[in-house]
Amino acid sequence: MKNLFLLFLLQWLIHPALYSQTDSRSSSITEVIPGKGYIEPPSDAIILFDGKDLNKWESPEDNHYLAAWKVSDGFFTAPAGFGYIQTKRSFGDCQLHVEWRTPSPYKGKGQNRGNSGVLLQGLYEVQILDSYHNDTYADGSAGSIYKQHAPMVNVSLPPGSWQTYDIFFTAPVFKPNGDLEKPAYISVLQNGVLVQNHVEIKGTTYVSPPVYEKHEALPLKIQGHDSPVSFRNIWIRPLPAKK
Ligand code: MG
Repeated sequence: MKNLFLLFLLQWLIHPALYSQTDSRSSSITEVIPGKGYIEPPSDAIILFDGKDLNKWESPEDNHYLAAWKVSDGFFTAPAGFGYIQTKRSFGDCQLHVEWRTPSPYKGKGQNRGNSGVLLQGLYEVQILDSYHNDTYADGSAGSIYKQHAPMVNVSLPPGSWQTYDIFFTAPVFKPNGDLEKPAYISVLQNGVLVQNHVEIKGTTYVSPPVYEKHEALPLKIQGHDSPVSFRNIWIRPLPAKK
């Protein structure tokens, strides 16, 4: 039992180094100061959070856990501990808008400073992190596709600032036998600046190597990563799947 625990611990310690797709540090990414302004939802958007309640959301594991995500003053905040909330509805190809804010004053450093994430189809994470003068591995910083693609520039605002993601996601396509036919692709604007330009998602975005397993449309998830990251103004536009 003790050996198993040590093995588990060792895996956690070495995985980030082993499976990082780049050797570079986030401090090497060029810094860009964004313009001002936020995007209001267009008329055909599905509003996933309008500042009032989490009625469009549920907990994947334990429904009591959803209650820990507190709504106040037009935003909601991830609780202490680890876990996810997900939309009740499933999505495929989509345009997604999310506004998020890492805590100020901040606590911790690296991956323990303002960590959350937006997981397309619950599997493919656009990392949320306080990446304002906070060095970590480049493909784990804000605007990264976690462990796969570092952002092209660092456009992060200081902790306590509201920031935006506008995400354009093409879901993976699978053959009837379960093999991958087409990988997922993603583009991301952070604070209106392009940080990911139609990059290929290589599979699940985790500390272990990416894999694809056949799935249909799935819920959008938001990550609880033991940091009180807040969210507001979340909307999505499902897009017709390309043939
Ligand atoms: Mg994260």
